[in-house]
Amino acid sequence: MLVVRDAPSPNFDQRRGPPDMLVLHYTGMPAADEAIARLRDPEAKVSAHYVVDEDGTILRLVAEERRAWHAGRGSWQGETDCNAASIGIEIVNPGHEFGYRDFPGAQIDAVISLISDIRTRWTIPDARIIAHSDLAPDRKQDPGERFPWKRLASLGHGLWFEPAPERIDALGAPLAVGDEGLG
Ligand SMILES: [Zn+2]
Repeated sequence: MLVVRDAPSPNFDQRRGPPDMLVLHYTGMPAADEAIARLRDPEAKVSAHYVVDEDGTILRLVAEERRAWHAGRGSWQGETDCNAASIGIEIVNPGHEFGYRDFPGAQIDAVISLISDIRTRWTIPDARIIAHSDLAPDRKQDPGERFPWKRLASLGHGLWFEPAPERIDALGAPLAVGDEGLG
């Protein structure tokens, strides 16, 4: 059973329909408590539906039926109001600016449980479980390369494919660096 604690944020408004997208973030601040405080500060005008701390604690800040303010400017599959379409999950991590580090196992387990739980309530296609950086690649990096998308996909959530080698020969075999030159 998923344990979720309520920590309400005033930073939300109304959706225009049911959510059908999930956006994953990292908090990108040095400490969890300051990130959570900011997401609940009416002056900051930012929020997310959930925050998952490094020990696996899950906080609910905004009800899933409401429109939280986490995605900002960007688009995915033609949707430009990503806040209206999505549920946002903030994963506690200092991020690239303040010392990006591995997501602990307990935290990832909690994120996966939360995603499974959310998908029992809403119809969210795998191609719409995305990173903040997917919808705003020009200005966002989160949740970043340490997030285990491959593991998530192996458990049935989201999409993953192995990158192909950058160069292949006529028979489809990878070319090692230096193979193509005269030396
Ligand atoms: Zn983000």
